[in-house]
Amino acid sequence: MDCIFCKIINKEIPTEIVFENDHIVAFKDIHPKAPTHILIVPRKHVESINHLGSEDRDVIVEIILAAPKVAEMMKTKDGYKLAFNVGRKGGQIVDHLHMHLLAWPEDDKEAKRKEVAPI
Ligand code: AMP
Ligand code: ZN
Repeated sequence: MDCIFCKIINKEIPTEIVFENDHIVAFKDIHPKAPTHILIVPRKHVESINHLGSEDRDVIVEIILAAPKVAEMMKTKDGYKLAFNVGRKGGQIVDHLHMHLLAWPEDDKEAKRKEVAPI
């Protein structure tokens, strides 16, 4: 399967992994939209939220459970934004389900962006 995130998960493409366990891999976004921008990606290839089946409950739970761990490692546990893009109209470019974790420092001049920030 020609999926860039599967290749990252299988360590065929180098990337800056910040956290991983049996279920997910979390790595730095190559084009960060915020000072902290991490992608939390399930090891299982599921295209998007629209493609989740009832057998994938663990997939989505593990993604969410990884967020505070990643935030802690990135020292942003006091405030961060989580987002899923779904489909091209929703801004999804990579068709392997992933959650964005974004955080801005308190003194960020663009801090207002976090109120609405589309990604
Ligand atoms: P989305 O628009 O929700 O599909 O997000 C895909 C994200 O993957 C974008 O923010 C890209 O910058 C990021 N991305 C694409 N290729 C890589 C890569 N090789 N390493 C890290 N992040 C990537
Ligand atoms: Zn994949």
